[in-house]
Amino acid sequence: MTAQLIDGNALSLQLRAQVAARVQALQAKGITPGLAVLLVGENPASQVYVRNKVKACEDAGLHSLLEKYDASMTEADLLARVEGLNNDPRIHGILVQLPLPAHIDGQKVIEAISPAKDVDGFHIASAGALMTGMPGFWPCTPYGCMKMLESIGYDLKGQHAVVIGRSNIVGKPMALMLLQKNATVTICHSATPDLKAMTLQADVIVAAVGKRNVLTADMVKPGAVVLDVGMNRNDEGKLCGDVDFEGVKEVASYITPVPGGVGPMTITMLLVNTLEAAETSAAKDH
Ligand code: NAP
Repeated sequence: MTAQLIDGNALSLQLRAQVAARVQALQAKGITPGLAVLLVGENPASQVYVRNKVKACEDAGLHSLLEKYDASMTEADLLARVEGLNNDPRIHGILVQLPLPAHIDGQKVIEAISPAKDVDGFHIASAGALMTGMPGFWPCTPYGCMKMLESIGYDLKGQHAVVIGRSNIVGKPMALMLLQKNATVTICHSATPDLKAMTLQADVIVAAVGKRNVLTADMVKPGAVVLDVGMNRNDEGKLCGDVDFEGVKEVASYITPVPGGVGPMTITMLLVNTLEAAETSAAKDH
Protein backbone atom coordinates (compact mmCIF):
# COMPACT_ATOMS: atom_id res chain seq x y z
CA MET A 1 0.00 0.00 0.00
CA THR A 2 1.18 3.53 -0.66
CA ALA A 3 -0.48 6.02 1.62
CA GLN A 4 -2.32 9.06 0.36
CA LEU A 5 -0.78 12.34 1.43
CA ILE A 6 -2.71 14.74 3.60
CA ASP A 7 -1.31 17.93 2.13
CA GLY A 8 -1.14 20.63 4.78
CA ASN A 9 -0.24 23.32 2.26
CA ALA A 10 -3.25 22.60 0.04
CA LEU A 11 -5.66 22.34 2.97
CA SER A 12 -4.24 25.55 4.44
CA LEU A 13 -4.84 27.36 1.17
CA GLN A 14 -8.51 26.35 1.25
CA LEU A 15 -8.98 27.25 4.91
CA ARG A 16 -7.09 30.55 4.58
CA ALA A 17 -9.32 31.53 1.65
CA GLN A 18 -12.32 30.94 3.93
CA VAL A 19 -10.66 33.03 6.64
CA ALA A 20 -10.01 35.84 4.15
CA ALA A 21 -13.69 35.85 3.12
CA ARG A 22 -14.83 36.05 6.75
CA VAL A 23 -12.29 38.82 7.40
CA GLN A 24 -13.82 40.79 4.54
CA ALA A 25 -17.29 40.31 6.02
CA LEU A 26 -16.06 41.72 9.34
CA GLN A 27 -14.30 44.58 7.60
CA ALA A 28 -17.60 45.52 6.00
CA LYS A 29 -18.74 46.16 9.59
CA GLY A 30 -15.64 48.27 10.26
CA ILE A 31 -13.69 45.61 12.16
CA THR A 32 -10.32 44.20 11.15
CA PRO A 33 -9.21 41.20 13.20
CA GLY A 34 -5.90 42.01 14.86
CA LEU A 35 -3.15 39.74 16.16
CA ALA A 36 -0.33 40.98 18.38
CA VAL A 37 2.84 38.89 18.36
CA LEU A 38 5.38 39.51 21.10
CA LEU A 39 8.91 38.24 20.63
CA VAL A 40 11.48 38.61 23.39
CA GLY A 41 15.11 37.87 22.53
CA GLU A 42 16.90 36.67 19.45
CA ASN A 43 16.03 32.96 19.20
CA PRO A 44 16.56 32.30 15.45
CA ALA A 45 13.78 29.69 15.16
CA SER A 46 11.36 32.03 16.93
CA GLN A 47 12.26 34.83 14.51
CA VAL A 48 11.29 32.60 11.59
CA TYR A 49 8.04 31.48 13.27
CA VAL A 50 6.88 35.00 14.05
CA ARG A 51 7.75 36.20 10.54
CA ASN A 52 5.64 33.40 9.07
CA LYS A 53 2.74 34.16 11.39
CA VAL A 54 2.77 37.87 10.59
CA LYS A 55 2.98 37.22 6.85
CA ALA A 56 0.08 34.75 7.02
CA CYS A 57 -2.00 37.40 8.82
CA GLU A 58 -1.24 40.00 6.19
CA ASP A 59 -2.04 37.60 3.34
CA ALA A 60 -5.44 36.82 4.86
CA GLY A 61 -6.27 40.49 5.50
CA LEU A 62 -5.79 40.43 9.27
CA HIS A 63 -4.03 43.28 11.04
CA SER A 64 -0.83 42.17 12.75
CA LEU A 65 1.35 43.91 15.24
CA LEU A 66 4.82 42.45 15.72
CA GLU A 67 6.68 43.74 18.76
CA LYS A 68 10.27 42.65 19.25
CA TYR A 69 11.96 43.18 22.57
CA ASP A 70 15.49 42.80 23.80
CA ALA A 71 16.29 39.61 25.74
CA SER A 72 16.89 41.79 28.80
CA MET A 73 13.23 42.87 28.97
CA THR A 74 11.92 42.39 32.50
CA GLU A 75 9.02 40.14 33.35
CA ALA A 76 7.17 43.12 34.81
CA ASP A 77 7.52 45.07 31.56
CA LEU A 78 6.28 42.12 29.50
CA LEU A 79 3.30 41.63 31.83
CA ALA A 80 2.50 45.34 31.52
CA ARG A 81 2.65 45.11 27.73
CA VAL A 82 0.30 42.11 27.72
CA GLU A 83 -2.10 44.04 29.94
CA GLY A 84 -1.99 46.97 27.51
CA LEU A 85 -2.88 44.64 24.63
CA ASN A 86 -5.67 43.03 26.69
CA ASN A 87 -7.24 46.49 26.77
CA ASP A 88 -6.54 47.42 23.13
CA PRO A 89 -9.77 47.07 21.09
CA ARG A 90 -7.84 46.74 17.79
CA ILE A 91 -6.18 43.56 19.05
CA HIS A 92 -8.26 40.38 19.21
CA GLY A 93 -5.50 37.85 19.67
CA ILE A 94 -2.25 37.95 21.65
CA LEU A 95 0.58 35.55 21.03
CA VAL A 96 3.71 35.52 23.16
CA GLN A 97 6.30 33.54 21.25
CA LEU A 98 7.87 30.81 23.37
CA PRO A 99 10.44 30.08 24.65
CA LEU A 100 10.97 33.21 26.70
CA PRO A 101 14.34 34.10 28.26
CA ALA A 102 15.02 32.13 31.45
CA HIS A 103 14.42 35.08 33.80
CA ILE A 104 10.78 35.36 32.64
CA ASP A 105 8.15 32.94 33.93
CA GLY A 106 6.44 31.88 30.71
CA GLN A 107 3.37 30.41 32.39
CA LYS A 108 2.83 33.63 34.35
CA VAL A 109 2.92 35.61 31.12
CA ILE A 110 0.50 33.23 29.39
CA GLU A 111 -1.89 33.49 32.36
CA ALA A 112 -1.76 37.29 32.02
CA ILE A 113 -3.31 37.11 28.54
CA SER A 114 -7.06 37.64 28.60
CA PRO A 115 -8.67 34.23 27.85
CA ALA A 116 -10.80 36.04 25.23
CA LYS A 117 -7.56 36.87 23.35
CA ASP A 118 -5.68 33.60 24.03
CA VAL A 119 -5.52 32.53 20.38
CA ASP A 120 -2.64 30.11 21.06
CA GLY A 121 -4.97 28.27 23.44
CA PHE A 122 -2.28 27.91 26.13
CA HIS A 123 -4.06 29.77 28.96
CA ILE A 124 -5.23 27.52 31.77
CA ALA A 125 -8.80 28.71 31.07
CA SER A 126 -8.49 27.47 27.47
CA ALA A 127 -7.03 24.17 28.65
CA GLY A 128 -9.88 23.80 31.14
CA ALA A 129 -12.45 24.62 28.49
CA LEU A 130 -11.04 21.94 26.20
CA MET A 131 -10.99 19.41 29.01
CA THR A 132 -14.60 20.07 29.99
CA GLY A 133 -15.93 20.45 26.44
CA MET A 134 -16.76 24.12 26.87
CA PRO A 135 -16.19 26.75 24.14
CA GLY A 136 -12.65 28.12 24.11
CA PHE A 137 -9.58 28.39 21.95
CA TRP A 138 -7.94 25.12 20.99
CA PRO A 139 -4.13 24.99 20.68
CA CYS A 140 -3.33 25.49 17.02
CA THR A 141 -1.18 22.42 16.29
CA PRO A 142 -3.56 19.70 17.52
CA TYR A 143 -6.49 21.72 16.17
CA GLY A 144 -4.77 21.62 12.77
CA CYS A 145 -4.39 17.84 13.09
CA MET A 146 -8.13 17.55 13.74
CA LYS A 147 -8.82 19.59 10.59
CA MET A 148 -6.57 17.24 8.63
CA LEU A 149 -8.58 14.23 9.81
CA GLU A 150 -11.79 16.08 8.98
CA SER A 151 -10.45 16.83 5.48
CA ILE A 152 -10.26 13.12 4.67
CA GLY A 153 -13.71 12.52 6.15
CA TYR A 154 -12.27 10.35 8.91
CA ASP A 155 -14.82 9.29 11.53
CA LEU A 156 -12.98 8.86 14.83
CA LYS A 157 -15.91 7.27 16.61
CA GLY A 158 -14.80 3.94 18.08
CA GLN A 159 -11.34 4.17 16.53
CA HIS A 160 -8.20 3.72 18.59
CA ALA A 161 -5.94 6.77 18.49
CA VAL A 162 -2.43 6.65 19.90
CA VAL A 163 -0.75 9.97 20.66
CA ILE A 164 3.00 9.86 21.17
CA GLY A 165 3.99 12.80 23.38
CA ARG A 166 2.21 14.47 26.29
CA SER A 167 3.22 18.13 26.16
CA ASN A 168 0.71 20.78 27.18
CA ILE A 169 0.82 22.35 23.75
CA VAL A 170 0.52 19.27 21.53
CA GLY A 171 0.16 15.80 23.06
CA LYS A 172 -2.34 16.39 25.86
CA PRO A 173 -4.71 18.69 23.96
CA MET A 174 -4.47 16.36 20.96
CA ALA A 175 -5.62 13.45 23.12
CA LEU A 176 -8.54 15.48 24.49
CA MET A 177 -9.67 16.53 21.01
CA LEU A 178 -9.59 12.93 19.78
CA LEU A 179 -11.50 11.85 22.87
CA GLN A 180 -14.10 14.53 22.25
CA LYS A 181 -14.68 12.93 18.83
CA ASN A 182 -15.27 9.56 20.50
CA ALA A 183 -11.96 7.88 19.76
CA THR A 184 -10.45 5.54 22.34
CA VAL A 185 -7.23 7.31 23.17
CA THR A 186 -3.86 6.09 24.42
CA ILE A 187 -1.14 8.59 25.34
CA CYS A 188 2.46 7.39 25.13
CA HIS A 189 5.54 9.17 26.43
CA SER A 190 9.17 8.62 27.32
CA ALA A 191 8.30 6.19 30.12
CA THR A 192 6.07 4.00 27.93
CA PRO A 193 7.88 0.64 28.06
CA ASP A 194 6.79 -0.82 24.70
CA LEU A 195 5.78 1.91 22.29
CA LYS A 196 5.50 -0.49 19.36
CA ALA A 197 2.97 -2.65 21.21
CA MET A 198 0.80 0.46 21.59
CA THR A 199 1.17 1.90 18.09
CA LEU A 200 0.49 -1.46 16.43
CA GLN A 201 -3.04 -1.30 17.91
CA ALA A 202 -3.72 2.17 16.55
CA ASP A 203 -6.08 3.20 13.78
CA VAL A 204 -4.70 6.75 14.08
CA ILE A 205 -1.23 7.69 15.28
CA VAL A 206 -0.11 11.22 16.10
CA ALA A 207 3.63 11.53 16.64
CA ALA A 208 4.58 14.63 18.65
CA VAL A 209 7.96 13.88 20.16
CA GLY A 210 10.75 15.83 18.47
CA LYS A 211 12.94 12.83 17.61
CA ARG A 212 13.58 11.35 14.19
CA ASN A 213 12.31 7.86 13.38
CA VAL A 214 10.28 7.47 16.57
CA LEU A 215 7.73 5.72 14.36
CA THR A 216 8.90 3.17 11.80
CA ALA A 217 6.97 0.94 9.40
CA ASP A 218 7.10 -2.13 11.67
CA MET A 219 5.25 -0.12 14.36
CA VAL A 220 2.24 0.71 12.18
CA LYS A 221 -0.86 -1.40 11.55
CA PRO A 222 -1.62 -1.61 7.80
CA GLY A 223 -4.14 1.07 6.85
CA ALA A 224 -3.56 3.31 9.89
CA VAL A 225 -3.64 7.10 9.52
CA VAL A 226 -0.38 8.76 10.57
CA LEU A 227 -0.01 12.42 11.50
CA ASP A 228 3.53 13.68 12.01
CA VAL A 229 3.86 16.76 14.22
CA GLY A 230 7.61 16.49 14.82
CA MET A 231 10.05 19.02 13.47
CA ASN A 232 13.62 17.79 13.35
CA ARG A 233 16.68 18.07 11.12
CA ASN A 234 18.10 15.09 9.28
CA ASP A 235 21.79 14.42 8.67
CA GLU A 236 21.73 16.74 5.64
CA GLY A 237 20.19 19.50 7.77
CA LYS A 238 16.80 19.19 6.06
CA LEU A 239 13.53 19.49 7.98
CA CYS A 240 12.01 16.11 8.85
CA GLY A 241 9.40 14.75 11.22
CA ASP A 242 9.26 12.04 13.86
CA VAL A 243 8.04 9.45 11.38
CA ASP A 244 10.19 7.40 9.01
CA PHE A 245 8.16 8.74 6.11
CA GLU A 246 9.57 6.52 3.35
CA GLY A 247 8.90 3.32 5.30
CA VAL A 248 5.61 4.25 6.95
CA LYS A 249 3.99 5.51 3.76
CA GLU A 250 4.10 1.93 2.45
CA VAL A 251 1.95 0.73 5.38
CA ALA A 252 -0.35 3.62 6.29
CA SER A 253 -3.52 4.62 4.43
CA TYR A 254 -2.93 8.35 4.94
CA ILE A 255 0.17 10.22 6.08
CA THR A 256 1.21 13.84 6.58
CA PRO A 257 4.55 14.93 5.12
CA VAL A 258 7.18 17.10 6.82
CA PRO A 259 7.55 19.79 5.63
CA GLY A 260 4.15 20.67 4.17
CA GLY A 261 1.99 18.82 6.68
CA VAL A 262 1.06 19.88 10.18
CA GLY A 263 3.37 22.94 10.15
CA PRO A 264 1.31 25.15 7.79
CA MET A 265 -1.89 23.98 9.50
CA THR A 266 -0.65 25.35 12.82
CA ILE A 267 -0.43 28.86 11.40
CA THR A 268 -3.76 28.44 9.63
CA MET A 269 -5.51 27.59 12.89
CA LEU A 270 -3.92 30.63 14.51
CA LEU A 271 -5.63 32.74 11.84
CA VAL A 272 -8.91 30.92 12.46
CA ASN A 273 -8.67 31.49 16.23
CA THR A 274 -7.85 35.18 15.76
CA LEU A 275 -10.72 35.63 13.32
CA GLU A 276 -13.10 33.90 15.73
CA ALA A 277 -11.89 36.08 18.61
CA ALA A 278 -12.74 39.13 16.50
CA GLU A 279 -16.12 37.71 15.47
CA THR A 280 -16.99 36.99 19.11
CA SER A 281 -15.92 40.47 20.16
CA ALA A 282 -17.95 42.02 17.32
CA ALA A 283 -21.04 40.00 18.29
CA LYS A 284 -20.74 41.26 21.89
CA ASP A 285 -20.49 44.87 20.75
CA HIS A 286 -23.69 44.72 18.71
P1 NAP B 1 8.03 18.36 24.09
O1 NAP B 1 7.40 19.31 25.03
O2 NAP B 1 9.50 18.16 24.12
O3 NAP B 1 7.33 16.93 24.31
C1 NAP B 1 7.82 15.78 23.71
C2 NAP B 1 7.06 14.58 24.24
O4 NAP B 1 7.61 13.42 23.64
C3 NAP B 1 7.16 14.39 25.76
O5 NAP B 1 5.89 14.13 26.28
C4 NAP B 1 8.09 13.20 25.91
O6 NAP B 1 7.80 12.38 27.01
C5 NAP B 1 7.79 12.43 24.64
N1 NAP B 1 8.91 11.55 24.28
C6 NAP B 1 10.22 11.84 24.25
N2 NAP B 1 10.91 10.76 23.84
C7 NAP B 1 10.02 9.78 23.61
C8 NAP B 1 10.13 8.44 23.16
N3 NAP B 1 11.31 7.90 22.85
N4 NAP B 1 8.99 7.71 23.05
C9 NAP B 1 7.80 8.24 23.34
N5 NAP B 1 7.64 9.51 23.76
C10 NAP B 1 8.74 10.27 23.88
O7 NAP B 1 7.68 18.70 22.59
P2 NAP B 1 6.38 19.39 21.92
O8 NAP B 1 6.42 20.84 22.18
O9 NAP B 1 5.16 18.61 22.24
O10 NAP B 1 6.74 19.18 20.39
C11 NAP B 1 6.92 17.88 19.84
C12 NAP B 1 7.47 18.01 18.45
O11 NAP B 1 6.52 18.70 17.66
C13 NAP B 1 8.76 18.82 18.34
O12 NAP B 1 9.53 18.30 17.27
C14 NAP B 1 8.27 20.20 17.96
O13 NAP B 1 9.24 20.94 17.23
C15 NAP B 1 7.12 19.83 17.08
N6 NAP B 1 6.09 20.87 16.97
C16 NAP B 1 5.67 21.15 15.72
C17 NAP B 1 4.70 22.07 15.54
C18 NAP B 1 4.23 22.34 14.16
O14 NAP B 1 3.60 23.35 13.93
N7 NAP B 1 4.46 21.43 13.22
C19 NAP B 1 4.15 22.76 16.62
C20 NAP B 1 4.58 22.42 17.90
C21 NAP B 1 5.56 21.47 18.06
P3 NAP B 1 7.95 12.88 28.53
O15 NAP B 1 6.75 13.76 28.80
O16 NAP B 1 7.94 11.64 29.31
O17 NAP B 1 9.24 13.64 28.60
